[in-house]
Amino acid sequence: QTPILEVNGLKKYFDIRGGVFGRKVGEVKAVDDVSFTVMEGEILGIVGESGCGKSTTGKSILRLIEPTEGKVKFQDKDITELSDEEMRQLRRNMQIIFQDPYASLNPRHTVEKIISEPLLIHGLTDKNERKKRVTELLEIVGLSGYHASRYPHQFSGGQRQRVGIARALANNPKLLICDEPVSALDVSVQSQILNLMEELRDEFNLTYVFIAHDLSVVKHISDRIGVMYLGRMVELTEKNKLYDNPKHPYTKALLSAIPLPDPDIEKERMILEGDVPSPANPPSGCAFHTRCPLAMEVCKEVRPQFNEIEDNHFVACHLYE
Ligand code: SF4
Ligand code: MG
Repeated sequence: QTPILEVNGLKKYFDIRGGVFGRKVGEVKAVDDVSFTVMEGEILGIVGESGCGKSTTGKSILRLIEPTEGKVKFQDKDITELSDEEMRQLRRNMQIIFQDPYASLNPRHTVEKIISEPLLIHGLTDKNERKKRVTELLEIVGLSGYHASRYPHQFSGGQRQRVGIARALANNPKLLICDEPVSALDVSVQSQILNLMEELRDEFNLTYVFIAHDLSVVKHISDRIGVMYLGRMVELTEKNKLYDNPKHPYTKALLSAIPLPDPDIEKERMILEGDVPSPANPPSGCAFHTRCPLAMEVCKEVRPQFNEIEDNHFVACHLYE
């Protein structure tokens, strides 16, 4: 297995400005020291409540926003050191699919134009060639050539997301950041899109970082899953280990929120109280200590390290130190 993406000590802080002069009055640590590796062909799920920094992590990886600190290596190149032009060249290999296909597709453009655009940007100047490729891409995602002349509003949510995927695949990328691609869709459509994405991964040997806000969506599709809380990665391991033997109290709480398929299986239930604290003013020590039923004195003082406590099982929690 070859790593395709290595994220090391990634931080993204946003300034909070206020007052008459718009002076900096604080900062939001949206992503605060996150590290993980993604293997070629793998689907890494990243899960957490809204505001935990998962989308910011995804966008920082593509440098759609500039990381404050840290390294992002894609195919052995440190992309944080690339020039804009080098980054532009590389970006064809790394694409993003957004949650809301309504917002991410220009409503005034036909599907043909929407999918052609990245082809043109990366040098496919021949109009007929582009047309051919658009039809091919539409077929790859389960639509067909006659959809090319239509506009986004003429499609259902699921079809629109298929168009979004076709556009992302236009230049044969290696890595797709999927930022909650099915969250806006009906449950019945969600599984169709997830199945499609899994097929595409196999067919084109793609790698996904698949962001979701609950564990049930990523359960089927992921090989490994990382759980984020308030800008930090708190647990990361293989899917089955995470579901069968979760270590971090926050992961246990997230899993408790999923209805069990078999009510006879008694599981250790952990119910989360309270809301996620503001990332502008995160709790000291372990950021989860204000909601953790197992919190100890040390948790308020010392930030737990993200350690590999078992083979391929990373946890940031004082219970395991
Ligand atoms: Fe709970 Fe402490 Fe572990 Fe944080 S470090 S999850 S507060 S036990
Ligand atoms: Mg988000």
